[in-house]
Amino acid sequence: MPRNILVTGANRGIGLEFTRQLLQRGDHVIATARKPGQAHALDALAGDHPGRLHVVPLDVAEAASHKALLGELPLLLGDGRLDLVIQNAGVLHSGERFGQVKESTLLDSFRTNASGPLLLSQALAPWLATGAKIANMSSILGSITLTDAFSTPSYRLSKAAQDMATRLLAAALNDRDITVLALHPGWVQTDMGGDGASVPAEESARGLLGVIDAATIADSGRFLDWRGREIAW
Ligand code: NAP
Repeated sequence: MPRNILVTGANRGIGLEFTRQLLQRGDHVIATARKPGQAHALDALAGDHPGRLHVVPLDVAEAASHKALLGELPLLLGDGRLDLVIQNAGVLHSGERFGQVKESTLLDSFRTNASGPLLLSQALAPWLATGAKIANMSSILGSITLTDAFSTPSYRLSKAAQDMATRLLAAALNDRDITVLALHPGWVQTDMGGDGASVPAEESARGLLGVIDAATIADSGRFLDWRGREIAW
């Protein structure tokens, strides 16, 4: 049975690779982008997979944008439900230094990486199938245990908050058999990962889809990397 899957931030990077691989597997994908009119790679995929890819606008940091997406779901899903939501959209503001951290950068990171995904999950909850999964793209940089340098504070704080959201959602959705995971994709060759990144996006997405597929409700609330290895909170 093809599954209904929603991927946020799907126009480039790991989100685009998730979308490509899910379509190859035969799934139906709702791929969100802040500017669908400029999502040319998604347009090409939609042409290659007629009727199985819908590209819709979504800014995860904006509640009004969540509402607009919710308004489109009856048309996109009909009587169906979402089997998987991959909350992939994220932002990393680079160049922060101790003494110069700005409130605006902290708040933008929090809205995009933490509060946005929590509120979107809450809004999407009625559309989740029994036994569905939510995959929250976290980062090893959000690990409190593994932090020993003052770098990328807005990103680290927001991903740590998102990890707490993962645990809270796992608790809230447990009785509906919905598995919620925090995932680290590796240091991935994307715009965010930059020049030194070691893991190709294709390899990261393939590994993560394997981890998501293998996860059961017993794994809900865990923090795993793209090879299925546990990360310390
Ligand atoms: P990327 O290449 O920078 O792509 C980020 C995606 O998120 C883009 O599609 C971007 O859309 C979207 N986005 C940003 N802010 C958004 C917002 N407010 N609303 C909706 N979409 C928004 O990043 P990536 O490397 O693919 O990263 C994907 C996820 O993995 C992120 O959550 C990131 O934190 C996490 N991660 C990445 C790495 C790595 O090494 N790359 C490591 C650990 C974790 P626009 O095109 O409109 O900007």
